[in-house]
Amino acid sequence: MKQKVKTLIIGSGPAGYTAAIYAGRSSLEPVLYCGLQPGGQLTTTTVIENFPGFPQGIDANQLMTDMREQAKRFGADVRDGSIEKADLSKRPFCLVDERGNELETETVIIATGASAKYLGLDDEKKYAGMGVSACATCDGFFYRKRTVAVVGGGDTACEEAMYLSGLAKKVYMIVRKPYLRAAEIMRKRVEEKENIEILYNTNTLGLFGNDGVEGAHLVRFKGEPNEEKYDIAIDGFFLAIGHKPNTELFKGQLDLDEQGFILTRGNSTSTNIEGVFAAGDVADPVYRQGVVAAGSGAKAAIEADRFLQEKGLK
Ligand SMILES: Cc1cc2nc3c(=O)[nH]c(=O)nc-3n(C[C@H](O)[C@H](O)[C@H](O)COP(=O)(O)OP(=O)(O)OC[C@H]3O[C@@H](n4cnc5c(N)ncnc54)[C@H](O)[C@@H]3O)c2cc1C
Repeated sequence: MKQKVKTLIIGSGPAGYTAAIYAGRSSLEPVLYCGLQPGGQLTTTTVIENFPGFPQGIDANQLMTDMREQAKRFGADVRDGSIEKADLSKRPFCLVDERGNELETETVIIATGASAKYLGLDDEKKYAGMGVSACATCDGFFYRKRTVAVVGGGDTACEEAMYLSGLAKKVYMIVRKPYLRAAEIMRKRVEEKENIEILYNTNTLGLFGNDGVEGAHLVRFKGEPNEEKYDIAIDGFFLAIGHKPNTELFKGQLDLDEQGFILTRGNSTSTNIEGVFAAGDVADPVYRQGVVAAGSGAKAAIEADRFLQEKGLK
């Protein structure tokens, strides 16, 4: 099947659905592909407490189902399935879904998100949502006055450790190398913070605990003659070793940063290709929050609408 559309939205997280609500209300008749994770990353958690409008918090899956219904109410054509090929070399752009259907579209809103990197330990899965987290801003609140560990030695790990140090009683940083890879200023801040203890040359072997994380098995100087195994008692284990944006499809076509996040222009969601917009975590190595993703989805739809008007395509 071949189909012409005005706006194609790729992704069904808060960015994609919000873009679809706005695009639908602007009569762009958007088509949205949900991908392998309908509802996006938030469907992997339980209750969201920081999305405005829900003073008692909201079940994350309910929130995403409601966003989907809201998008459909304004005419979005929400489809299961993924986009597998993208030719952005000329407009209309040509994208192909997993069933081989071709979509010719004047604008594309990419909202394919990003996934946190994990160490690959079985215990990370075992304790998912029970003490293991990849988002200090999301989950730090649950560890007030408790003890947590942050894994990683880069800028993000330092930022997460600093954030958690304002909430938790004690923060360990588990750092593989004998130094922090972070910028000088971040390094200093972390080193000088009295409730942060940096464990250099240290790897995590596993986690333990009955009804949640109660501690981590660590090894210092792994594989060296002075190798030493030891345990620490913690309530939370925070991964901060990076995120992988879902941008494989667009490599070589869109400008990406060194980690693969889509580069957008100034304060907009426009990319280096006119008519292609990026919203949410896929273009956001910094904030990675549901409400921020939703906000940028709204921006992308407004910008797509203005673009179509300017080109006389609406
Ligand atoms: C465990 C966990 C807890 C969190 N808790 C909170 C919280 O409490 N508060 C908060 O604000 N944020 C929280 N976050 C962060 C929040 O989930 C993200 O910031 C937000 O989901 C990003 O939205 P997004 O729309 O950019 O992308 P995502 O939610 O990542 O969605 C990406 C979408 O793109 C789709 N996709 C990918 N590739 C393709 C393709 N080729 N074709 C079609 N579709 C595709 C996927 O299927 C998915 O639907 C949490 C994240 C996690 C992992």
